[in-house]
Amino acid sequence: MRPDASVLHLDLDAFFAAVEQRDKPSLRGKPVVVGGVGGRGVVATASYEARRYGVRSAMSTREARSRCPHAAFLTGRFHAYREASERVMEVLRSVSPLVEPLSLDEAFVDLAAAGLPDLSVPTVTEVAEEMRARVHEVTDGLTASVGIGTSKFIAKVASDLDKPDGLVVVAPGTEVELLRPMHVTVIPGVGPATAERLRRAGIHTVADLERVSLDELVRLLGKAHGAGLWSLARAEDDRPVEPDRETKSVSVEGTYDTDLTDRKVMESVLTRQAGDVARRLRASGLSGRTVSIKVRLYDFTTLSRSTTLSSPTDTASTVARLARGLLAELDTSGGVRLLGVGVSGLADWIQEDLFGDDFGDGPGDADEADDAVPEVPLPGLPARHRSGWAPGMDVVHADLGRGWVWGAGRGVVTVRFETAETPSGPVRSFADDDPALTPWRPPEPPAPDAPVTPQSPTPA
Ligand SMILES: [Mg+2]
Repeated sequence: MRPDASVLHLDLDAFFAAVEQRDKPSLRGKPVVVGGVGGRGVVATASYEARRYGVRSAMSTREARSRCPHAAFLTGRFHAYREASERVMEVLRSVSPLVEPLSLDEAFVDLAAAGLPDLSVPTVTEVAEEMRARVHEVTDGLTASVGIGTSKFIAKVASDLDKPDGLVVVAPGTEVELLRPMHVTVIPGVGPATAERLRRAGIHTVADLERVSLDELVRLLGKAHGAGLWSLARAEDDRPVEPDRETKSVSVEGTYDTDLTDRKVMESVLTRQAGDVARRLRASGLSGRTVSIKVRLYDFTTLSRSTTLSSPTDTASTVARLARGLLAELDTSGGVRLLGVGVSGLADWIQEDLFGDDFGDGPGDADEADDAVPEVPLPGLPARHRSGWAPGMDVVHADLGRGWVWGAGRGVVTVRFETAETPSGPVRSFADDDPALTPWRPPEPPAPDAPVTPQSPTPA
């Protein structure tokens, strides 16, 4: 813990959904769900309007549809998210050289390295308000919530206290007071299973936890986990802001002499691989936030998909469930010759939940998943990939200009013609092989040094 509140955590609000609402005027103020739209897809981000119906990230899309059937369910547009993210990170780096991105929509900033005249609460408050205003400006209207405190833990807790579009500075010396009434799950590393163990021991709040001796906690939860919680319950957290955190990953893949064609077999392969990955993570004392799959099709096209959780996991069932959800978004009907599962974004947060198979959402809001959801099909892929007009994707019509896929099926694709710069636009339908309609991609290619997040189909 530092003497000053100099660790800043910025978290964009409902990021993916907010980008969609920005770029699709007809969806502003309406429930929007971004994620896998297929039968077994998973929600990446829900807009605040959708959250009112109980839609949450990492929930199955099926469940989300039953809770909020009138929401717009969109696959993601990764290029748009990455572009907005890059602009935000640039603003943060202009404030301090020490910026540690946690995902596309979230980062720590070390204000102690920002060259400020002092690190008093009024000074850091002013810096944060300016930062929020600039983020709003460079992203054409996205909002961010910011927390500032004496450690990463407190900064992250603080950014969640006044969401959306909020700023909370936790004054030095008030940390423990802030944490005491909170439920133990506010502590990174306390997932549902750990919370349940603690509950059975009569420990509900951080104040309860603070009263438990170190020995007792170690007895209850094991050495590393118990000691970690003991420190965090006292707001003791000395982790530095690390701009060049190594991106490590643990993955397992297998190739097959005979193409796999049965979806059930592919799922059981992924489940087994997820088990291997989770075992290796635990053996190295690691956990990660991003789960990826790699799929090589019969024609050697290699596809990658990934999804990111709000807090790290090392549990086989979580990795397996997400991997199967990612597979469900791909057309594998032609057969598959390679399958793989990986976990990256490895963290030094204390282990999420060594005892159970739950998600264990961290202290952040539920929107932090920065799911690299299925991308717009690229021209040049086999025709069967191009037939998939995914809801939400950008398109351009030879006569009518730019719009987005509102829905598709039974040989028809429906497009709403609007962009961020236009008013709410009209809806028109076309045959799904109408040559006048093509996917739209931003003109400039992504920077070669952009953070590598596998998301788009790439040739083998
Ligand atoms: Mg966020």
